[in-house]
Amino acid sequence: MLVENLEKINQEILLACKKAQRSNNDITMIAVTKSVGNETAKELAELGIENMAENRVDKLLEKKMALEKFSSIKWHLIGNLQRRKVKLIINEIDYFHALDSLKLAEEIQKRAEKQISCFVEVNITGEESKHGFKSDEVIEFIRQLASFDKIKVVGLMTMAPLAASDQELHEVFSKLKELQTAINNYHLSYAPCTELSMGMSNDFPVAIEEGATFVRIGTAIFRGA
Ligand SMILES: *Cc1c(COP(=O)(O)O)cnc(C)c1O
Repeated sequence: MLVENLEKINQEILLACKKAQRSNNDITMIAVTKSVGNETAKELAELGIENMAENRVDKLLEKKMALEKFSSIKWHLIGNLQRRKVKLIINEIDYFHALDSLKLAEEIQKRAEKQISCFVEVNITGEESKHGFKSDEVIEFIRQLASFDKIKVVGLMTMAPLAASDQELHEVFSKLKELQTAINNYHLSYAPCTELSMGMSNDFPVAIEEGATFVRIGTAIFRGA
């Protein structure tokens, strides 16, 4: 099933790229392995998947250890990170997708041994249950990171509301794109902000149409597997 599912996802990515007149080389598909065990993750690695994500610190460390021989895998932490866990994980990952407070940024600055590629998480719709900055707080937050030499803001990340209509999805994703472009236009050396982490199993084609460069896909890979 994995092979068929991956093939189907790839076709959908190609189709969305075609629709938006974008190159599929600009899209990185991240496999979100939080719902499967080490063996299934290994199968993915053997199929050539090179970007893997977990939303929990302990699970990421466990998978990374189990997949140690696949040394070219890039590891993405996509979930909310508690400050007390920063020291355990920050030097084990390639990308962090959920930078959502100055206090967390301070802890990363203190614990990181090299510059960490981070996405600032944005709560576009302002839902109370969600992490992330409101749209109008993002630029001010990024300005505050100017002296944090361990943090590189590579882009912005969002999660669309679960039950959003197609039109709402387009709105949410295009708003994140607008914000990313605005920040990118400041030409801040520590915040190139060229990337957009948006789109999951249910909404990645829309996210790609609106400019996603990283899509985070779980369920659709493991359906029926
Ligand atoms: C679980 C998760 C995903 C993947 O969701 P699916 O609907 O299974 O594709 C993407 N992003 C984040 C932050 C997640 O926690």
